[in-house]
Amino acid sequence: MTDLTNLTLTETLDGLKNKQFSATEVTQSYIKSMEANRRLNAYVLETPEVALTQAKEADTRYANGTNKALDGIPMGIKDLFCTKGIRTTACSHILDNFIPQYESTVTQNLLNAGISILGKLNMDEFAMGGSNETSYFGPVINPYKADNSDADLVAGGSSGGSAAAVSANMCVAATGTDTGGSIRQPSALCGVTGIKPTYGRCSRYGIMAFASSLDQAGPIAKSVKDCALLLNVMAGHDDKDSTSATVAVPDFTQLIGKDIRGLKIGIPAEYRPDGLNAEIAKLWDDGIAMLKARGAEIVNISLPHTKYALAAYYIIAPAEASSNLARYDGVRYGLRVEGNGLDEMYINTRSEGFGKEVKRRIMIGTYVLSAGYYDAYYLKAQKVRRLIRNDFIEAFKKCDMILTPTSPTPAFPIGDKSMQDNPINMYLNDVFTVSVNLAGLPGMSIPMGLSEHGLPLGLQLIGQAFDEQRIFQVASALEQDAAFKRK
Ligand code: GLN
Repeated sequence: MTDLTNLTLTETLDGLKNKQFSATEVTQSYIKSMEANRRLNAYVLETPEVALTQAKEADTRYANGTNKALDGIPMGIKDLFCTKGIRTTACSHILDNFIPQYESTVTQNLLNAGISILGKLNMDEFAMGGSNETSYFGPVINPYKADNSDADLVAGGSSGGSAAAVSANMCVAATGTDTGGSIRQPSALCGVTGIKPTYGRCSRYGIMAFASSLDQAGPIAKSVKDCALLLNVMAGHDDKDSTSATVAVPDFTQLIGKDIRGLKIGIPAEYRPDGLNAEIAKLWDDGIAMLKARGAEIVNISLPHTKYALAAYYIIAPAEASSNLARYDGVRYGLRVEGNGLDEMYINTRSEGFGKEVKRRIMIGTYVLSAGYYDAYYLKAQKVRRLIRNDFIEAFKKCDMILTPTSPTPAFPIGDKSMQDNPINMYLNDVFTVSVNLAGLPGMSIPMGLSEHGLPLGLQLIGQAFDEQRIFQVASALEQDAAFKRK
């Protein structure tokens, strides 16, 4: 039998339905792979016994014909999603041994559809980072290496564990979250497919908040169709999240494989700065040529406020984070470091519990929200955010969808000095992704090819709000033409 862990979600479901193998067999294969690839540090908690119990239940349903949409699919869950009875830490010391009493809506939806949980996946601490190096559990190692160096490379962040685990066949698919690029960037760097849906498409209930007006959950998987099947289940209105949209969830697989002739694809001039990496520029040109060859119309567009997006994001996201993270005080969850009185206990707990990057964000956030600076920074950033959103509204009068690179470079070595010494260098990696979150739009990364030294590169499709269906349509065309093969 072929290695079951090589199969996509779509292929795995077919095999299960046709009784070629059982859910238990699939799960056992993934547990082996999870154990064999521990070097990558993709999982921070393995739950093989949970997965096997769930797989057994799935097998019973297959036997009596009551199987559900994703029955018997073993998944990894980003450690930002609360999972009832299973340790959830956001990869922060401050949540040491926190065991949630309840399940996040997105994971509950997946469980209701029959998935099994292999474990919790590594991530940047509280999803703050672009390389998965801020995790309390240490960095995730990219399954790929450059052909001219033996250095371990970053998996991208913040959903680095999710992307690496899917890439290395340590799960069929994974959940991710994306506040400024955390689904799309690690997907691009690890050669897998991931979509950040429209803000409000998936419930945020039970997902630890980073920046509430930007956070959105989505799938990371081995193919475009796999992502669509997952989003079908993950999405939907939830009474427990007032920002989850009361919009119907269509069948996201419906337009996959359909002709894209006549669709207008926008190419934003501002995403091709002077210093753009030549390999990335070529990848983008190739993608444009593929869509053109299929009869799509290529339209030059402008998103004039793009140059302010990073600055606005790195004010708004820390501002919201500083407020959201106020709840970790040593009283209610996780770590508590005693002191002389209440104030000292707070100080000791937060000093020891949070990592360096999280502390930096809390300080920036508190600063930009403080009296006297609020107008100059926070309010100004909110106004810029509106202008960025307006740019997209204008652009979508001329095109149906936008094609851009996902990340400005391929994966770089873990501990890269230029990144560590100046956090702004790391923030610059988000240049192609943050605008999408600021505008609340859906964005998807599709693996399109390899760099000169054999590292995966991705392109991003940005759609109109709640138009994920057409993203999947165009993404599947790119997927077919690029024919990217995971290692
Ligand atoms: N790299 C960005 C940041 O550090 C985005 C992170 C995310 O999307 N969660 O804020």
